[in-house]
Amino acid sequence: MAPQWPEVGLDVEQLRTQGFAALPFREFVVKIHSRCNLACDYCYVYESADQSWREQPKTMAHEVFRRSCGMIAEHAQRFGVPQVSLVFHGGEPLMVGHRRLETYATDARRIIEPVAAVKLGMQTNAVLLDDEFLRICDALDIRLGVSIDGDRIAHDRHRKDRRGVGSHARVVAGLERLTAAPRRLFSGLLCTVDVANDPVETYEALLAFSPPVIDFLLPHGNWTAPPPRLPLDGSATPYADWLISIFDRWYHAPVVETHIRLFDSVLELLLGGLGGCESVGLAPMQLAVFETDGRLEQVDELKSAYHGAARMVLSYKGNLLDEAVDLPAVVARQIGIEALSEACRGCPVHTVCGGGHYVHRYHPGTGFLNPSVYCADLLKLITHIAASVRADLESA
Ligand code: SF4
Repeated sequence: MAPQWPEVGLDVEQLRTQGFAALPFREFVVKIHSRCNLACDYCYVYESADQSWREQPKTMAHEVFRRSCGMIAEHAQRFGVPQVSLVFHGGEPLMVGHRRLETYATDARRIIEPVAAVKLGMQTNAVLLDDEFLRICDALDIRLGVSIDGDRIAHDRHRKDRRGVGSHARVVAGLERLTAAPRRLFSGLLCTVDVANDPVETYEALLAFSPPVIDFLLPHGNWTAPPPRLPLDGSATPYADWLISIFDRWYHAPVVETHIRLFDSVLELLLGGLGGCESVGLAPMQLAVFETDGRLEQVDELKSAYHGAARMVLSYKGNLLDEAVDLPAVVARQIGIEALSEACRGCPVHTVCGGGHYVHRYHPGTGFLNPSVYCADLLKLITHIAASVRADLESA
C-alpha cells in the first residue's frame, strides 16, 4: 500500500515551526490476550482487512506488560501527565485467567502510580465474568465495560461463538453478576449499531441493566468498504434515522435514564464544549495501543481500512511512546480542523462533527483526508439534535 495522507502531505516539522507541540498519550489500551472466545461477524480485529492478530502471542508476557507500564510511567513523567487510564483489552481480556489479571493490575498500579494516578478499566464480552474476577476487579478497582447489542435477537444476530451459537444468555448472566457487584465497577455498555434491529427496543433492552453510560458504535467502514446498508451517495440516512429514534426517546424521557456518550458529546459540542467521544468533535486524540507482543499501535479500528493501517513505524530503541508522539499518523489526530478535508472545512456543522470518526474517512489515494463515509447521517443527526435543543431553549 503506497503511503497516503497523513504519512504523505502532513508536514510535522512545518507544524512545529507554526507552534504545534505534540501532546502526550494519556489513554492506553493494553491487549493482554489476543484471541477471543466469541466470533462476532463484524469484529474489526478478526474479520477485517488487517489479519495481524495471527502474528501475536495469545497472552501478553508479564515481562512485556511490565516494560509497557514502565514506558507509560516514563512518558507520564516526561510530559507531566497527572493521570492515565489503562484499559485491559483483547481479544477477550478475561481469557488471561484470574491470577494473570490480578498480577497485571497489581503491576500497573505499582509501576505507574508513583508517577501518575491510574484508572484501570476493561472492555469485555462478560461471558467469563465470574465472582472471582469481580473480587479482583473490586480489590484493584478495575471498571468494566460490557459489549452487548440489545435484546437476544439483536445481539445474537452477530455476537455468536465459534459453533455459531448466540452468546446473549451468557453475556446477560455475566452482566447480572456485574450489576449485583459494587456499582462503581460497572463503567457502561457498548452496542454496535445494526439498523436491522428496532432502535427503541434495542435502547430499552440495554436500559434494563441500568448502565451509567451507553456507547453506540457505528459499524466500521469507509469509502471502499461501506458499512452495511449505507448508500454512498447520501440518498438515504439509515444510521441517522436509527439514532434519532433513540435520541428522541432518550432526550424526552421525564428523567435522565442513562448517559449516551455520542448524544452527550454532540450536545456539549453544540454548546461550545470539547465533547468526550472519538466519533465527533475536534478534540485531540491521546490514545495508544500496546499489542500483546508489546508493539505499539494506533487504535484497532484502523484495521478496518487496510492491512497494517494501525501500525506505527518506530525504531524500538528508546521509549516507544516518546517517539510515537511525533508520527504524522498521531499528529493528524491532534490538530483539529487542520486535519479536515476541504469539504468538511466548508461544512456548517464541522466544529461539532469534526469529520466524524477518523477511521470512517478512509479512501484509497487520499487516505484519511476525506469526509466521513457517514457524512449525510452525521449532518442529519447533528441538525436534529441542534433543532431539539433550540426548540427547548425557545420554549423555556
Ligand atoms: S457532516 Fe460531513 S462534511 Fe460535515 S464535517 Fe461531518 S463529515 Fe465533514
